[in-house]
Amino acid sequence: MNCENLRQPIIEVPGLPVDVQQTALEDIRRLVNALRSVGDELGNTFLLDRVLVSSQFEEDVNHLLQERSELTGYSAVRKNVHAVGKTFWIRSDQGDLGFVVVIDANHLGTWGLNNARCLTTVLHELTHVLYEARHLKRLGEKEYTATGDTRERWLDQWACVILDEFDVDRTVDAVIRKIATKEDGQHWSLWELEEAHGVDWSQSLFDALDRMPQFIDERVWQFHTWWMNINELAGEVIPFVNDLLVLVSHTAALYIETERWPKLMRRIKETEAGRRFLRDHLDSIVEEFDDKQTPFTMALERVYKAVERIFGNCGLGFKTVDNGVYISVTEPLR
Ligand SMILES: [Zn+2]
Repeated sequence: MNCENLRQPIIEVPGLPVDVQQTALEDIRRLVNALRSVGDELGNTFLLDRVLVSSQFEEDVNHLLQERSELTGYSAVRKNVHAVGKTFWIRSDQGDLGFVVVIDANHLGTWGLNNARCLTTVLHELTHVLYEARHLKRLGEKEYTATGDTRERWLDQWACVILDEFDVDRTVDAVIRKIATKEDGQHWSLWELEEAHGVDWSQSLFDALDRMPQFIDERVWQFHTWWMNINELAGEVIPFVNDLLVLVSHTAALYIETERWPKLMRRIKETEAGRRFLRDHLDSIVEEFDDKQTPFTMALERVYKAVERIFGNCGLGFKTVDNGVYISVTEPLR
């Protein structure tokens, strides 16, 4: 056993009602222990330093990021989803790098009543720590914590998020199958649990796919006709595409082992967005999911290239220049 994996994180739940705090602390501690053994199996160190369930989520995230002396302006609002948690690295007083997970208590629901869903949300965020460790290992601390903008760093980060969200959900599914029991004594799978709580990732994905063509066309047109500058265009299109691809990750993670998945893939590819923007690059991404044969860095590279081509189909190209990333805009693919 790796002694790093014995670190005890600080767990705080001030955002939860007082009467459930004790149960929540115990539940979270149980999840931490479960993930520690998954970390041992994966060979990833579980560098979790702190868990905070907060009712002032954005303020607390920004506050902690400020301690890291970083320019902030973190917002939980996404184009197609709303973030309920954030995982990020911090440095201890001794200078060691570790991770903090902050969870938005306002989006958790009532702890206890729909406990399984609460647990999944917390578990999802905690699991990110395991997969951050693989990027830390791959990139080394200097590159991992570097902040400057380059095309390579942007694409690498976007590709990492796509693969991480898939892997995180798959790990959550495996843990849930072990620890969450239905009333009839059967074990929950993640997709059953999500559906039982009215969460349908595939619906969110199809909504985003439906919006995509008009969203992209309008913004690129506004840029070409001087209604929008390049920063505004990038600020709209980049998060839209990235969030949509993350919805693919979540949907795939839930259904890839069910008979629904081939039908879902077909439906995605038949949408206008699928035909115009995602094309075969979608297959290139999905092929890397759950592929245990390909080394991670190679899988990442393939996803990276596919993401770059999808942006290309949306009319956006990226190039590293002296002071950051130059974005060129052409016409979206018809
Ligand atoms: Zn996530």
